[in-house]
Amino acid sequence: MQPFAFSTVAGLIFGAGAVKRIAAEAARLGRHAFLVTGRSTSRAEGLRRDLAAGDIACTLYRVTREPDLESVSAGARAARKAACDVVIGIGGGSVMDAAKAIAALVTNQRPLLDYLEVIGKARPLDREPVPCITVPTTAGTGSEVTKNAVIRSPEHRIKVSLRSPDMLPDLALVDPELTLSLPPELTAATGCDALTQLIEAFVSIRANPLTDGFCREGLARCARSLKTAYHQGDNLTARTDMAIASLFSGLALANAGLGAVHGIAGPLGGMRAAPHGDVCARLLPIVTAVNIAALENTSPERSLLERYRETARLLTGNREARARDGIAWLNTTIRELNIPPLIRWGLTPAEITELAESALRASSMRGNPVPLERQTLETIISTAMQEDD
Ligand SMILES: [Zn+2]
Repeated sequence: MQPFAFSTVAGLIFGAGAVKRIAAEAARLGRHAFLVTGRSTSRAEGLRRDLAAGDIACTLYRVTREPDLESVSAGARAARKAACDVVIGIGGGSVMDAAKAIAALVTNQRPLLDYLEVIGKARPLDREPVPCITVPTTAGTGSEVTKNAVIRSPEHRIKVSLRSPDMLPDLALVDPELTLSLPPELTAATGCDALTQLIEAFVSIRANPLTDGFCREGLARCARSLKTAYHQGDNLTARTDMAIASLFSGLALANAGLGAVHGIAGPLGGMRAAPHGDVCARLLPIVTAVNIAALENTSPERSLLERYRETARLLTGNREARARDGIAWLNTTIRELNIPPLIRWGLTPAEITELAESALRASSMRGNPVPLERQTLETIISTAMQEDD
């Protein structure tokens, strides 16, 4: 067996109502919190009151869109000016990513580009970030337990990662009750992101026995609860399953990597303001079919093909399921969840080659179970653009 390593957050608390512990937990890490939130501040106000009651000062910072070079750098300057010694991110993946990046830049004061992959110098962080707590309010990205922050550069038309083992949060506080009010479209998009991440980490060439366990458990919960959470948003059992699926997808992907779906979805997210989870959902059955076909043609890769069979068994609940039954399940599910095809986000046929070339260079692509050529990626993208018949 290949040797493997696994690293994750220093602390993790999961449970309905867990968010009430925020002040006590933050007090162990600092005295002045930089509280990063999304569009809605009502939840942050409650948190601010809890922190004040625990004698923790609080500076509020709103991130209303996906983090970009400017908003992250400005956040770090504000946190430094207020002498914040702990960063808390409460929100979806974008908010938690912004919080992790800000925590890193408070102590690492070179220009952000110096530390960024692809468009920057990819310089390792010079100093440890200030402590960071992540509190997800969606069930999808797993960002609460990953070591990177996806940051958009409007100038380069690309999204890239700020990445460091030191960026693993000090505490992930996961409270499924926070997702009860998530509207159906967001539940579908973020849930499909978790589903994609679990499948890609499970069939990744970097998968290990520890990430496998997270993927199997996460996939079983996703299979039984994704559609229920979409149709019955107030169902706490389904929400809990999806919060676990999302968390486990993050634990897995941070250690096993991802595949071609994320290889394409990453650069596409830099070109169009399309919801990441919707993009992943549309690409997933197509990439799965391409990977299975390629594995069937290369006999030494039987064990990877077996992974797709196991995925199909977990998704369908049928012990006799074949690898291709998993694709049918995925297609039925994305239709039931009303996930729009990529064409609706304004992607044009003229951009397909550019997108496929960027995907080839994406770090996520490296975990894909088989190497894919540019032409194959172009076919995948144009298929995902088509309207359903
Ligand atoms: Zn994702």
